[in-house]
Amino acid sequence: MSFDRIIGQEGAKKILINSLKRERTAHAYIFTGPDGVGKFLTARILAEALNCTEEDKPCGICRSCRKIQKGVHPDVKVIDVEGASIKINQMRELRRDMFVRPYEGRKKIYIIRQAEKMTPEASNSLLKTLEEPPEYGVIILVTVNHHMLLPTIRSRGQVIPFYPLSQKDMEEFLVKNLRKGKEEVRFLAAFSGGRPGEALKLADDEEFVQLRNLTFEIIAGLNKNNNEKGMFLLIDRLPNKKERIQEFLDIVTLWYRDLMIIKTGKKDTIIVNADLEEELNEQVQYLSIDRIFKILEIIQRLKKDIESNANLYLILEVMFSKILGVYRDDVYSCRSQVQKGG
Ligand SMILES: [Zn+2]
Repeated sequence: MSFDRIIGQEGAKKILINSLKRERTAHAYIFTGPDGVGKFLTARILAEALNCTEEDKPCGICRSCRKIQKGVHPDVKVIDVEGASIKINQMRELRRDMFVRPYEGRKKIYIIRQAEKMTPEASNSLLKTLEEPPEYGVIILVTVNHHMLLPTIRSRGQVIPFYPLSQKDMEEFLVKNLRKGKEEVRFLAAFSGGRPGEALKLADDEEFVQLRNLTFEIIAGLNKNNNEKGMFLLIDRLPNKKERIQEFLDIVTLWYRDLMIIKTGKKDTIIVNADLEEELNEQVQYLSIDRIFKILEIIQRLKKDIESNANLYLILEVMFSKILGVYRDDVYSCRSQVQKGG
């Protein structure tokens, strides 16, 4: 069964495989869940299964299956956003096309990606098609959140939820796909939040790799004592993009989380930055549990300001001055103790 190509998503696979076995597939499916967890891949494999010419469907290797994998099967179409939305003319075209019988396959399948981006007019047009589809017609709506679809559309499709993968599944997937060791992929697996698609994207993203290196340069500089100016110069080198800064802060957070785990000696919790274990072990000597906790608090508190404030660098400078203060254990922490004491 080539549903094996999908990692995790056991629930979704079970529903689909069972309905295929009993030949009771629906006319409309709604695949819902976060980006990068395998919704589109599953939609394509379902399309393969519906049109496969072999006994064991989908075989993944017959002419029909291979055509679908290459995106050239005349009876399997993918609809994407045009500009910022999916428009009514796209849905009218779908409807026209659907009522022409399949050329090669048994079924005509339409995969609508980012279905939540349909305009209201497009949604209503699709609804008409969903109300009376031809017996060979199958529509698969792929969306990050099925609640963003019209309730009338939702009620006409079988909702199939997709979930982020476990750390273990992610690591196995990345070891296989990136041909790297378990320790090397651990950070990426954790950072991408159980989304294999996102992990592969980040692995290929040179700016992200640089961002992680720069992050450690900044952190390593913190315990080399008192060089505030040097720290600010490094912060200035961070990309001036909100999403990148959020990623930067997530990398920083994972770093201190790792230090905390080492410090508390929790053996059953994994170290995310496993590829930098030496650096972690060196840095852990500079901080007590209390101070690591304090740093994590500072990051959490100021992270919210990044969302709402335009001056990213100013917030980062404030944040890292405070963190540096914790390393020095100087005025900042003394003052906060005085405040706590009343
Ligand atoms: Zn096949």
